[in-house]
Amino acid sequence: MIRVNEHYLKLQASWLFSEIAKKVSDFQSTNPDMEIIKLGIGDVTRALPRACIAAFHRAVDEMADDATFRGYGPDQGYEFLRQKIAVNDFQTRGADISADEIFISDGAKCDAGNIQEIFAAGTRVAIPDPVYPVYLDSNVMAGRTGAFKKNRYENLIYLESTRDNGFVPKLPQEGVDLIYLCFPNNPTGATITKAQLKKWVDFAYESKALILYDAAYEAFIRDDTLPKSIYEIEGARQVAIEFRSFSKTAGFTGTRCAFTVIPKSCKAYTGSGDKHRLDALWLRRQTTKFNGVSYPVQRAAEAIYSDDGKKQCRELTDYYLRNAALIREEITALGYDCIGGDNSPYIWVNCNSDPWDFFDLLLKKAGVVCTPGTGFGKCGEGYIRISAFNNFENVQRAMSRISKVLK
Ligand SMILES: *Cc1c(COP(=O)(O)O)cnc(C)c1O
Repeated sequence: MIRVNEHYLKLQASWLFSEIAKKVSDFQSTNPDMEIIKLGIGDVTRALPRACIAAFHRAVDEMADDATFRGYGPDQGYEFLRQKIAVNDFQTRGADISADEIFISDGAKCDAGNIQEIFAAGTRVAIPDPVYPVYLDSNVMAGRTGAFKKNRYENLIYLESTRDNGFVPKLPQEGVDLIYLCFPNNPTGATITKAQLKKWVDFAYESKALILYDAAYEAFIRDDTLPKSIYEIEGARQVAIEFRSFSKTAGFTGTRCAFTVIPKSCKAYTGSGDKHRLDALWLRRQTTKFNGVSYPVQRAAEAIYSDDGKKQCRELTDYYLRNAALIREEITALGYDCIGGDNSPYIWVNCNSDPWDFFDLLLKKAGVVCTPGTGFGKCGEGYIRISAFNNFENVQRAMSRISKVLK
């Protein structure tokens, strides 16, 4: 008898964004004349940088000629891309990361979801609340949690991010083996200082734990004192894996390219206490289950590191940050407390009410879509997330409509 993986049945019924999409389409069908502005989902709206497009085209032409054609690529991704990443994203910031510690992939979501496969079934996992749902759901699927009760899974350690701790969770009191952190944070937009991050690195070292650091939004950091990579922190090479993505930083959500950094010094233990290199396990996993990113896409990603590419990516993130600043300003002027929106494209708003009610209010009265905080966890009660990914004119119109409704 074929049986299902019953851990899947513990997952919460709807993926947050399908629930939102359904509410929006229901509203739209009964109010066809209302124009809806979407500041909900975290997807970019602006075209790829011109430098990427040019490189993309050139690479496609190479595939059209036997002399320059490429088949299966190297397991970890092309050296030309890994080398540029190592120098530009890490070495120039004083982070000691080399090209052979970088694994190119088609998404930070896939990597953050798949990485838990290389850890023991009984791993004690600490996950932020609120949280990007992938960390949580991938561990539920793997059977590391108990049932879902009162908006929480059993057998998980929740790292609460609240106004009281400035949305940077405190170190856990109980034993943990695997810790997920994400800064600048999705959904809260909060950032972490080097001193705060150092405490996590030291904690992981002392407790022989590992940090999975999601830096998908590092390109939005404008405050130079903030760390863009966990490897800017002393000791992190022993205790941290970092996820990066070109999705939000260069508009690659539909093009697909990302990477994961696993330093050679990053190790985990067997039951009998032997140490094993995690880069070796991850490479083994990827060579079996992953086919790599297409050659033209890796060339397009490489172009991000050219002079033009850097400038154009900066313009992209500046554009969204201008939206974010406007959202933040208007929300604050309306008397609502918020965080994020300065070094991040998300604004986390204390709406002082049930977030689904507030969502309905904004949708039905202002025609604006946001994301209810509870979709990201229990600590999202009383909050909504507004995303800066849209064009400036739409953001202006959305904010003036919201102002009229909330005043
Ligand atoms: C968007 C996002 C990612 C990843 O994106 P990919 O498109 O899969 O590379 C990773 N982490 C967070 C927190 C995100 O918001």
